[in-house]
Amino acid sequence: MSLKFYNTLTREKEDFSPIDPKKVRMYTCGPTVYNYAHIGNLRAYVFTDILCRTIRYSGLKLKQIMNITDMGHLTSDADSGEDKMTKGLLREGKELTLKNMRALAEFYTEKFKDDLRTLNVEMSDGMYFASDYIKEDIELVQKLEQKNFTYRTSDGIYFDISKVSDYGALWSGKRNWNKEGARVEENSEKKNPEDFALWKFNKKIGFESPFGKGFPGWHIECSAMGIKFLGEQFDIHTGGIDLMTTHHTNEIVQSECATGKKPFVKFWMHSEFVDIGGAKMAKSEDNFFKLSKLSEKNINPISYRFWLLMASYRTKVNFNWEALEGAEIALKRLYNLYIGFGSTVGKIELKYQQKFKEYLEDDLDTPRALSLLWNLIKDENVFPADKKATILDFDKVLGLGFKNLKEEIISKEIIKLIEEREEARKNKDFKKSDELRDKMNSLGYEIKDSSGGYKINKI
Ligand SMILES: [Zn+2]
Repeated sequence: MSLKFYNTLTREKEDFSPIDPKKVRMYTCGPTVYNYAHIGNLRAYVFTDILCRTIRYSGLKLKQIMNITDMGHLTSDADSGEDKMTKGLLREGKELTLKNMRALAEFYTEKFKDDLRTLNVEMSDGMYFASDYIKEDIELVQKLEQKNFTYRTSDGIYFDISKVSDYGALWSGKRNWNKEGARVEENSEKKNPEDFALWKFNKKIGFESPFGKGFPGWHIECSAMGIKFLGEQFDIHTGGIDLMTTHHTNEIVQSECATGKKPFVKFWMHSEFVDIGGAKMAKSEDNFFKLSKLSEKNINPISYRFWLLMASYRTKVNFNWEALEGAEIALKRLYNLYIGFGSTVGKIELKYQQKFKEYLEDDLDTPRALSLLWNLIKDENVFPADKKATILDFDKVLGLGFKNLKEEIISKEIIKLIEEREEARKNKDFKKSDELRDKMNSLGYEIKDSSGGYKINKI
């Protein structure tokens, strides 16, 4: 095992080893469930899935948890704008109550889980609603209060960043980077533009607390849940790059100040945006769409996963339908080739497995892993059955669904013909083998032989 990951905290690719050698502990920022996820949001979870699968493939145990934000997240990601859950309730014409808020959250959480399932994203060990951990949030804010890191304004309890010297660790201490904080300074009671809410008062709707009725700040929920489930210090924290400047920065500072332990998290890992037409895909823009749109267009949604894996998770990708359709054609070809290798699963080619592991362990280099997969398929020195075994092994990380492929792409009848033809060729009955090939042609498939096996394509 020689895992290397790019760490946003140090801006370097670093050797990774877990704090507890027996188990990697990872926290993933989950969605705010006030609406459907768009395919840009889902990239962060495909990235995290590849990360989790790679860690396990390397032979390490992993505990990964994810929060589901069902309250307290404002549209600006900082402390201004509307509350997203409230916005969701208003949009759906529902009365503003905590019960309705929870019901809304549960509805969109199920939709989110459906999306993850569709994209072969393995569910994390624990997905927890933030609103179930209010007690932990309150305790954490109280700890910060006791240590004098907070102050009170008319609308909430705030963290005072002037009390710390290293605010903004994720951007190497360049404090004025926080454009979000600087731009939205409508709240004149804040002492510093980057100060952020730990608790926001709300007279109409909210939870009771020693500070007053309201909601915990969005950032505090992740610190509280991370500490609760993974401890005061843990190994990896993931999320989309949009979470880096405000959300994760604030998580770090408040956790470290509350516990007195540094670093809160050893590795911060972020996936890049999905652009569409040169702009970031976002719920607030009009340029987003749901995963179900792919099925509507008759595209297998797993093609989206495949397309994402063609680029490094740290590269911005530009979505367009032509690119996705291209990915789908390539994936279908892979499926067909795989099925064409027959029904016997042989042994894993260790030489390929070694390389595959090396590429993934090198900061999840999925583009190189995919080109290795194509090389394996083309390699005439590898038996088809062994190719099959190796592909299935690769798929433990890639998650493209080879295991469940049977008649989906090629019918049983064709598979039977392929096997009969193999048998005929083994017995040097070339007449029969040619007849079977013609029969396959008449059913719309062509088979081409090579010394390492054969390829099957739809005509
Ligand atoms: Zn979070």
